[in-house]
Amino acid sequence: MKSATKESLLADKEDRDNLEESYWHVNPGDVKIHATRIKGRFRNYKWMAASFWLLFFFGPYLRWDGRQAVLFDIPNRKFHIFSITVWPQDVWMLALVLIFLFLALFAVTAIGGRMFCGYLCFQTVWTDIFTLAEDWIEGAPVKRRKLDEAPWTFTKIRLRTTKHLVFIIISLLTGATFSAYFMDAFQLWKGYFTFTLPAVGWYTLLFFFMCTYIFGGFMREQVCFWLCPYARIQGVMYDSDTILPTYDKDRGEPRVRLKKGGHSPDAGDCVDCNLCVAVCPTGIDIRYGQQEGCITCGLCIDACDAIMDKVGRPRGLVRYASLDELGGIILPPLFKRPRVIVYSLILFLAFSGISYGLLTLGGMSINVIHERQPLFVKLSDGSIQNKYTMKIVNTTDKELNLAIEADGVEGLTMVGSKEPVKIPVSKVRPVMILLKAPEKSLKEQNIPIIFKVYDVNDKTIKSEYKSMFMSPAK
Ligand code: SF4
Ligand code: SF4
Repeated sequence: MKSATKESLLADKEDRDNLEESYWHVNPGDVKIHATRIKGRFRNYKWMAASFWLLFFFGPYLRWDGRQAVLFDIPNRKFHIFSITVWPQDVWMLALVLIFLFLALFAVTAIGGRMFCGYLCFQTVWTDIFTLAEDWIEGAPVKRRKLDEAPWTFTKIRLRTTKHLVFIIISLLTGATFSAYFMDAFQLWKGYFTFTLPAVGWYTLLFFFMCTYIFGGFMREQVCFWLCPYARIQGVMYDSDTILPTYDKDRGEPRVRLKKGGHSPDAGDCVDCNLCVAVCPTGIDIRYGQQEGCITCGLCIDACDAIMDKVGRPRGLVRYASLDELGGIILPPLFKRPRVIVYSLILFLAFSGISYGLLTLGGMSINVIHERQPLFVKLSDGSIQNKYTMKIVNTTDKELNLAIEADGVEGLTMVGSKEPVKIPVSKVRPVMILLKAPEKSLKEQNIPIIFKVYDVNDKTIKSEYKSMFMSPAK
């Protein structure tokens, strides 16, 4: 075969440069991707990150203070996270947690692109596990493609049945694990095996099972392309300093296939082996530049590094690099990047809010309403009486025996029984309170007072509420 001349190679390179500008690849689902599995650094990082999900699988069986450590108890409207119990009135913290998580995602994206997608996302990790099972059962991609095309013989039916059985087991385990965060895990399993689970338990299992089976077993990268909102907005989070898997065109082009006679001295380092495309779980050719479907998993880097090792060239033809870095500009330190600074500031504010919320979560929540009709009454002994309704929520796991005191006006006393108020576990109780004070000590029309409520058996469970004591105009 005629060897390539420098001119023809450069002409090819120019063609590719032009093509890159117009190239936009998204597989709309008409081609089934069978990615080659390859060992390497980033594959190891992916497994390390994926092992985080073991916490998800074992989490529901962790006990804390005699109950499930993490439980979203929707029927009783409370969330247990170890020793913290979050009630509906603390739900403002959930908004801060969501802001925190979104901003953390934005910050990671600004620094390293869709690293979350490539390494930690549920969809990516489960797809990886499903394709690993597929690889074990049906064989390497070449065999799988042949099997796709093959007629329905006994072998094909056996392989497909085995594969889908494994998919169903994985999906059922995943569905049950998700469900176990909403109901005591041991009770849930007992309910499954004795068929005594309420209908909502079966629906929850079915919902999570179907999502896992369809998304991991069939839709795979299509979920990332078409369903994931994060994939749609990622572009606005990047800047020219964001590091992404990038093909070093100046080094790689003009690409030439390796021939027996050796590599042309005018050729670039890319030997056009296509392994970087073959390993890509979303079917992208990274040599055409950044693509919308790239989940920055780094597997193409592993593939190209392996080829570079084989052909005796330095690694890094495909590598994590920013646009600026490729243009010869040195990457600024993280603390000098405006996006990182802004995201970090908002993250800090959200984190402070969450910490404040967690530190001020008491064993109870109180709310006091001052009676308006009438605002006060004058008693026969000349003192002034105000009426209040205090609503107390017991947010602990034990019955509370509460003493109520009020302070702020000289001679202020509580009318009626001084017996502690009993509030059962998880209950809300309204308590009517009458306060009276001698008229001579009431110098203003509205005087601030403070209610102090504490458990007589455990004074660390306490709460305060600011209110007003009303008196006749002076
Ligand atoms: S192009 Fe590379 S980094 Fe992007 S998804 Fe494909 S293999 Fe992963
Ligand atoms: S793996 Fe490397 S050498 Fe092979 S086609 Fe991709 S970029 Fe070129």
